[in-house]
Amino acid sequence: MALLEVENLQTNYGAIKALRGISFMVEEGQVVTLIGANGAGKSTTINTITGLLKPVSGSVRFMGQDITGWRADRVTKLRLIQVPEGRQLIANMSVMENLTIGTHIRRGEKIDEDLANIFTRFPRLNERRTQKAGLLSGGEQQMLAVGRALMMRPRLLMLDEPSMGLAPLLVNEVFQIIAEIKAQGIPILLVEQNARKALQIADYVYVLDRGQIVNQGTAEELRSDPAILSAYLG
Ligand code: ATP
Repeated sequence: MALLEVENLQTNYGAIKALRGISFMVEEGQVVTLIGANGAGKSTTINTITGLLKPVSGSVRFMGQDITGWRADRVTKLRLIQVPEGRQLIANMSVMENLTIGTHIRRGEKIDEDLANIFTRFPRLNERRTQKAGLLSGGEQQMLAVGRALMMRPRLLMLDEPSMGLAPLLVNEVFQIIAEIKAQGIPILLVEQNARKALQIADYVYVLDRGQIVNQGTAEELRSDPAILSAYLG
């Protein structure tokens, strides 16, 4: 049994068929990445898994449990945690408040310890712990969004375009952090337009095109596939 099993998932926005029946899996300890162009359906996939969107058909199973169509707050309680595209921090709350805002689902266990770990891993967040999130730079906001997700002790972390809008140096930093999270054994579903970077870190890759999975394989296989090279690695 895989940790996450998505089967024949279809999601529409009114008449627009954004997901046309996609199937994929994430196993324990893996980094799985979904790559694809703008509008391929990557965000729709994550948002359907976390309950922000309702599928018209298909299923999502997490840890063996059918969670299809569950409300987002219920999905979060399973510690299936999303770092949304655009980060969605609370701009007028401090770094500290943003980090602790979701932790009520953990009933107080070891929250201070985890917070200390986050501040060790992200020294810049530590320096700015009392600053309002809205005043952070783009890179710092991305770190904060990832830090906030880690505070939920995710069983599966889903990252939606973590490198979006960041300067190359910061993109490297974000991927370095993803590598550290992977090394810690936290499984990751990574959605990225930056296929080159995503393929460096992924164990397994699915290629999404107009709502369908058109290719899949190990990162190694896809890195040497001429069609992938020309379409996604330019
Ligand atoms: P991006 O990198 O732009 O986020 P994506 O691969 O994540 O791309 P989605 O955002 O999932 O793609 O979009 C999939 C399809 O659904 C696209 O055709 C998009 O135009 C459409 N779509 C997305 N959100 C909406 C919406 N709120 N209303 C209508 N159509 C939408």
